[in-house]
Amino acid sequence: MSSDARKVYFVSLGCPKNQVDTEVMLGVVRQAGHALVDDPEQADTLVVNTCGFIEAAKQESIDTILELAQLKQHGAGKQLVVAGCLSQRYPEELARELPEVDHFLGSADMLGLSRVLGGEAQRMGVTPLGQRAYIYDHQTPRQLSGARHSAYVKIAEGCDRPCGFCIIPVLRGAQRSRPVYSVVEEVATLVAQGTREVCLVAQDLTTYGSDLSPATDLETLLDALVRIDGLVWIRLHYAYPSAVTDGLVHRIAHEPKIATYLDVPLQHVDSDVLKRMRRGYGERRVRELVESLRDPAKVGSARVWLRTTMLVGHPGETEAAYQRLHDFVAEGHIDHLGVFPWSREDGTASALLPGRVTQRKAQERAAALMELQAQLRSRAHAQLLGTRLRVMVDGVSEDSELLLDGRHEGQAPGIDGKVVLTDGTARVGAIVEAIVTQTGPHDLVASMDPEAAAAALADRDDD
Ligand code: SF4
Repeated sequence: MSSDARKVYFVSLGCPKNQVDTEVMLGVVRQAGHALVDDPEQADTLVVNTCGFIEAAKQESIDTILELAQLKQHGAGKQLVVAGCLSQRYPEELARELPEVDHFLGSADMLGLSRVLGGEAQRMGVTPLGQRAYIYDHQTPRQLSGARHSAYVKIAEGCDRPCGFCIIPVLRGAQRSRPVYSVVEEVATLVAQGTREVCLVAQDLTTYGSDLSPATDLETLLDALVRIDGLVWIRLHYAYPSAVTDGLVHRIAHEPKIATYLDVPLQHVDSDVLKRMRRGYGERRVRELVESLRDPAKVGSARVWLRTTMLVGHPGETEAAYQRLHDFVAEGHIDHLGVFPWSREDGTASALLPGRVTQRKAQERAAALMELQAQLRSRAHAQLLGTRLRVMVDGVSEDSELLLDGRHEGQAPGIDGKVVLTDGTARVGAIVEAIVTQTGPHDLVASMDPEAAAAALADRDDD
């Protein structure tokens, strides 16, 4: 490493798509001959990849920038770089109000970091998001930040949908998909390096390829990916409810390499609220979709796990509309639920709508739905006692070095709970069979030894 190599420390905030951008910047640092350090005190360059989606995320980004700015004051020669969505959204304001920041990069300016490290960059490096802004590809240097056996792969960036509450099209620009061959190349390279699970992400996974010429689609991409030897699970995130086709449901249910799992943000069930959100579908479509994931005629004997997100407190959400959502959740269709209180975001259509709900009421509704979901999860998990699950091993357990942590097919990394594995060992990324012996609202415990499992279950019966 050359004497003028920089030592770079990263903080990555926000969603998995932002994590992929951070990993591209890690690759850029390495390719430019600089070093990555995981102690900010050792670093001479501090980079925070920010999120600017909603109020809480913006505040977390600002707090992190100010924290790193403190560190910068203690260390001579340190430079502070702010990248990502907050920079993209408020470049001038941030440049004016945060003099301690040396460089700003936007949500599509990951490659610009090499000029910053080379000392050739202007302070303001945020590029306006034109018609077809940058998206990385299979030749872009990228360094995974998490465990090697499971990786996010961004198949498209940006979004062309008009959802009234969402600022992402402003932060990320118009949709631009990567060609099928580029995604296949990247995944094949990852698998050759030990990846066994890829989590496909985009702002709207289900319109993948519609912007390419000639156009293509998610199903065509999946048909190419499942031919990669060594790949075990392909997990689908951020599908759009009205764009989930029967062909996609069929592949999720019947293609062994596609995890029987779907992350599809429904946002609400009340047709009037969905109309005000400009989501382009209503209650009937929501029910049709959920039923199709449970319909033996479509999914056979497969158990498709459903993750979704709901937004409460949107302008116009009456008590009756909220109750309709509460009753829908109480029906127990949803395996993994995230609930967000609406946040008034300048530049969105919903910010101008009448019929506002107080922030306090929105937070109460969100808490009540999450409480309901936890009860439903406890009950549903209790039904899994004694069942045999296929579990991907993630590593030594956080709870004890004598145990392993893993996830069954219905659990995405970091968000859907885990399976704590007892009575056995296995290598990271391996798939093991295990029998559920204990359950909770979020996690499960399962034994890799059938006899030990039988004994544990018998003990439970005796209690
Ligand atoms: S599809 Fe998702 S990212 Fe796109 S505008 Fe709607 S909520 Fe935002």
